[in-house]
Amino acid sequence: MPIRSVLLGENTRFDFRTSIREGSLRAAILPVAATEQHNEHLAMHHDSRSTELLTARAARALFPRVVVCPVVTVGVSGHWMDHPGTLSLSAGNFNAVVFDILSSLRSAGLAKVLIVNGHGGNRRPIEAALGEWRSGLGIQIEFCSYWEAYSPAFIRANTATGEVPGHAAEFETSFALAEFPESVHLTSAPYPESELRITDPPRAIDDRRFFEGARHATAEKGRLYVEHAVAYLTERLRRLLETDA
Ligand SMILES: [Zn+2]
Repeated sequence: MPIRSVLLGENTRFDFRTSIREGSLRAAILPVAATEQHNEHLAMHHDSRSTELLTARAARALFPRVVVCPVVTVGVSGHWMDHPGTLSLSAGNFNAVVFDILSSLRSAGLAKVLIVNGHGGNRRPIEAALGEWRSGLGIQIEFCSYWEAYSPAFIRANTATGEVPGHAAEFETSFALAEFPESVHLTSAPYPESELRITDPPRAIDDRRFFEGARHATAEKGRLYVEHAVAYLTERLRRLLETDA
């Protein structure tokens, strides 16, 4: 019996056990993201929701060989704590969570894991620990942020602002307009500078620029961004399935 769903949590222990035993299930994706401010107009679950969507679609393209773990929905977001509502883990605690999940997958019999990141602040902590995780667990662990899908030429051709991923600007807002428009709350109100207390001056400049960049977002661009990222992740997974450590 293959897995019932690409989402790990929708399977029973029977589904999981038999698909491992018969060898149909070969790899897992661990999506890591955030719950953090996304400027004035985009819901704070954006990174988690986008990463879950992309990883589930890539896994479906390779069904039933890949299962997707629940998203780690709180990431390393200490740089956004000027904005209430942001949740953050310290890098050490975040990495400890990721390691324990990897360790669970290994004990379940999965020897190939692709960690797919959807939040910039998670990248450095993971990259710093990857070598240790690989040698400590003895399994194949690959890592990428999903926006590695986009080449400079793609970004030039398909964005007005040239910023990918940016933060809640043209790119992410387009993505949400395409796939979960109920999370986008664009208004024509001006940027509320006087209400914001952004302590780091460069971040204050970026924040306003991202607010203005979001005006270039369209659902049509978002559909293209999503399609491209799903194809990229599917290819990464295909290579992981085909190669041995
Ligand atoms: Zn984001």
